[in-house]
Amino acid sequence: MFKFLKRLRGKDVDASAPEQENQPAAIIEVLPELDVPAKDVAPVEQEAETKTQTTALKSDTVANKAESKEPDLVSVELPKRSLGTGIRSLFSDSMDIDELEDILILADFGVETAEEIATELKREANRQGATTDPELRLLLKDLLAKRLSRTDSALNLDDGTLPYVILVVGVNGAGKTTTIGKLARWLKDGDWEVVLGAADTYRAAAVDQLETWAKRADSPIVKPVKEGADPASVAYQTVEMAIRTQADIAIIDTAGRLQNKKDLMDELGKIRRAVEKQTKISEVLLVIDATNGQNAMSQARAFTEVAEVTGIVMTKLDGTAKGGILYALQKELNLPIKLVGVGEQINDFAFFSPEEFAKGLVAKK
Ligand code: GDP
Ligand code: MG
Repeated sequence: MFKFLKRLRGKDVDASAPEQENQPAAIIEVLPELDVPAKDVAPVEQEAETKTQTTALKSDTVANKAESKEPDLVSVELPKRSLGTGIRSLFSDSMDIDELEDILILADFGVETAEEIATELKREANRQGATTDPELRLLLKDLLAKRLSRTDSALNLDDGTLPYVILVVGVNGAGKTTTIGKLARWLKDGDWEVVLGAADTYRAAAVDQLETWAKRADSPIVKPVKEGADPASVAYQTVEMAIRTQADIAIIDTAGRLQNKKDLMDELGKIRRAVEKQTKISEVLLVIDATNGQNAMSQARAFTEVAEVTGIVMTKLDGTAKGGILYALQKELNLPIKLVGVGEQINDFAFFSPEEFAKGLVAKK
């Protein structure tokens, strides 16, 4: 289990102390024209785009930071989640070593990787004299787990620079918003204070969807008042709110529908800069739909070229027979798979465990 550092709060110090009164989940609406004052919300005084105001706010933020003493930190684990039984086995029948390569190719491992694994398995089986179905499955499981194991698969939430900021990127429909909702709930369950930012401002439905998840995760959300508002302003104010409310983490949803690479790069660049005026970005998570096969690969390539992606979230691993895409992606992009989605429900979500995943792939039905 990974350990993370978050703000030490009353609750953490003395579990028997009365709970701090929870603030109701706030909704901050980011106005497209910020000279129009927002009603019924915390003051929205700044516009990220305006130079003078930005500078004023920046020094303000720095001053605030200097005044408030550095937070005490506490090392925490997140509640245990598992990939469960969501991973579909490669084998519907007993395992035939001569068919392995074809099976792996069909499961999207990629031809080269499929061949390597099949050859390696034969060699190991010979060396160890493994012949029975359970022996071969165990050998294969170890080979598969080893290939995806890396030391950098934990979320970067342990350097204590609060609030952490996570940007979530990926094509429409990949599962960004769902992932954010699940992650927010998980962090809340681990006593983190979370702020969500709806910087996918192009469709009202996308904002509504994040709002629904924010409610489920009992977390405040910063959202635009109307479609097409500046995503960078939303991102800016999300982080601003996280700083002001002393939240542990801000998670920002982004749009995936942009027409071409340049648009995408411009937009993500703007969002990045808006965040980095206030704090650093801890993670840029690229969400990929595992059922998309080779398309997933080209999407992943496009995003890693324009966004400084730090990790992958693989969604829809439940029920797909294409689990090999993880191997192909890992090989091609050399990025850690950090989180996985295994269903549409709020708890269908886990850290990626190569061991659990490999077990699922070789499981006997
Ligand atoms: P976005 O456009 O990237 O924000 O994608 P959404 O979060 O709106 O998800 C698109 C669809 O995929 C929704 O119907 C989700 O319920 C579904 N979805 C997301 N993650 C998973 C998952 O891990 N498993 C399954 N089965 N469905 C998922
Ligand atoms: Mg979305």
